[in-house]
Amino acid sequence: CSTQSSKMVMARKYVLVNYFVNEAKPTDLKLVEVELPSLQNGEYLVEAEYLSVDPYMRPYVRELPLGVTMIGTQVAKIVESKNPAFPVGKRIVGNLGWRTHTIIDPKISDQFFKQNPYLLPDIDDLPPSLGLGMLGMPGNTAYFGLLEICKPKSGETIVISGAAGAVGSHVGQIAKILGLNVIGICGSDEKCKWLTEEMGFDFAINYKTVPVSARLREVAPQGVDCYFDNVGGDIAGTVMYQMNLYGRVAVCGSISSYDAKSLPKCTILQPAILLNQLKVEGFIVKRWLDRWNEGIMQNLRWIREGKLRYRETVTKGFENMFDAFIGMMRGENIGKAIVQI
Ligand code: NDP
Repeated sequence: CSTQSSKMVMARKYVLVNYFVNEAKPTDLKLVEVELPSLQNGEYLVEAEYLSVDPYMRPYVRELPLGVTMIGTQVAKIVESKNPAFPVGKRIVGNLGWRTHTIIDPKISDQFFKQNPYLLPDIDDLPPSLGLGMLGMPGNTAYFGLLEICKPKSGETIVISGAAGAVGSHVGQIAKILGLNVIGICGSDEKCKWLTEEMGFDFAINYKTVPVSARLREVAPQGVDCYFDNVGGDIAGTVMYQMNLYGRVAVCGSISSYDAKSLPKCTILQPAILLNQLKVEGFIVKRWLDRWNEGIMQNLRWIREGKLRYRETVTKGFENMFDAFIGMMRGENIGKAIVQI
């Protein structure tokens, strides 16, 4: 066990003071400072290096009581320890919320995800922030969601919405590894260019400027076998009406309605599901907590083999957490949105 210091540590954290109405406002969160107590045996203290901003924060905030620390995952360095399994200098990935310093009792899992902080695997020269993206929750969402729900087969055609984000760009690359024809839908020409020129997608459609239904018919006349849905709404309806018999839909996210006051009107999906005998399944990545390491290790192997490429949109400074979150919700990120402290 090593204890580095016993000096007073102040933690900064964002506390939820109002529920978000439509788009979140900076005044919905309050930045506060608290003094941390000294460590008890078995505990360790971490200092955040990278924090994640993710779409799930928007809908899940409703389930939090006001006054709690805003939820979120971080990669943090162990700076003081009274636990030999978590030595000073190692990094952990933990659902510790939007805060700079945290005392962790490894016996207690977080209230929201029910997952204990874990040591970041040894990734040598790769950026530790990958523990929030390709080598963390979004990476496992792509890996398990695609393999277990879409059950893709070589030669099939997959459509991915939210394609230039953390999960979507990862799903498309795994689908290419598996030999699929990959079509992405995303919100800018710059994102489309990145997907087709750098990430190996066969086609990309800018849903903000191009009619998705007509363009999809052009680029996928053979029809769609798998749909990895990150956005829901009308894009989902459009894709599902162009699916083949026994197509599979992984409902991963529904970001188009996260900020909506009430559910928007959209296409009735039952005829598409019924006539083409589609399998439509929602999933939450926590379903595979018992296989968490499998996903991380496979994604790490693919990165090392040069088969998976990563990109991050990095905002600097803890004081800019809110702007990073809103920017991601508005589509300003390419790849994974993170904040570097
Ligand atoms: P992203 O990195 O994809 O960032 C969010 C993106 O959503 C934006 O960049 C924007 O890109 C797009 N977007 C925003 N508003 C809309 C809209 N109205 N219509 C279409 N696209 C929109 O985030 P993640 O990769 O982290 O998450 C992607 C999805 O996966 C989310 O829905 C999230 O909730 C879900 N998710 C689900 C998990 C699960 O366990 N089921 C786990 C992790 C994520 P653009 O410019 O293309 O509009």
